[in-house]
Amino acid sequence: MFDRTECVIHEPHAIRVLGAPFDGTVSFRPGARFGPDAIRAASDGLETWSPVLDADLEDVRYADAGDLDLPMGDVQAALTIIREAARCAVHEDAIPFLLGGEHLVSLPAIEAVHERHPDLVVVQLDAHADQRDDYLGLRLSHACVMRRVAEVIGFDRMRQIGIRSGTREEYALMRDHGTLTTFREQDLGALRAWVGQRPLYLSVDLDVFDPSCFPGTGTPEPGGIDWWTFQRFLQSMAGCRIVGLDVVELAPQLDASGCSSVLAAKCVREMLLCAWMGAGHA
Ligand code: MN
Ligand code: MN
Repeated sequence: MFDRTECVIHEPHAIRVLGAPFDGTVSFRPGARFGPDAIRAASDGLETWSPVLDADLEDVRYADAGDLDLPMGDVQAALTIIREAARCAVHEDAIPFLLGGEHLVSLPAIEAVHERHPDLVVVQLDAHADQRDDYLGLRLSHACVMRRVAEVIGFDRMRQIGIRSGTREEYALMRDHGTLTTFREQDLGALRAWVGQRPLYLSVDLDVFDPSCFPGTGTPEPGGIDWWTFQRFLQSMAGCRIVGLDVVELAPQLDASGCSSVLAAKCVREMLLCAWMGAGHA
């Protein structure tokens, strides 16, 4: 479904898929560096047409630029490479779509998109708050990524959904800033209205899904959503002006069944279609 050769077929393209195979700061079980390749491989088993969105990937002008070469032992260098690649996409009027990798890879992508869109808003789907100021003394960690993002865009431009794990301090912070919302019908409507016509970056940490349907992730957290809840969320975001997006934290070898990779690939398909339609193409 997602194939590097598409790069040639679909030039110029509206959406650029970038693999960011980095898991240098994960706090528990590593393996997210293998996410992008697993998503591509699993995508072979999926149709290009989405019955729910009534849209076909064959009609979407996207390109898969392959994986970035990232030095696993050097966080700053890896983030710089990701930021440059996202900048490059933005400057060429392509929407960057990052395949992680751990969640920290979202930070440089959001920074790059924010340079172009100062009124950017970010919606994070996640089991975890990711609002620590530091984790074991590190300020650049997947456990701190949304705190760093807030320093770039401001808490008032951030909403978090699916969160069910964090420290007392993180929850106090999120309550103070009113960033938390839920998948309840009325909350999704309110979220859509809050985004309005502002440029939206959608960051999907796949551990938002319940470990029963998505065990292939480094930090699984019980109590998550199912596929249909995610689908409802995406449908409620229809028409949003998506200017950047990512899917992170798939660690494929932690799920021997391969189902987690398929779920991740299906997320990518639906998000590609959503971004394409939001850009006024369908
Ligand atoms: Mn996260
Ligand atoms: Mn998470």
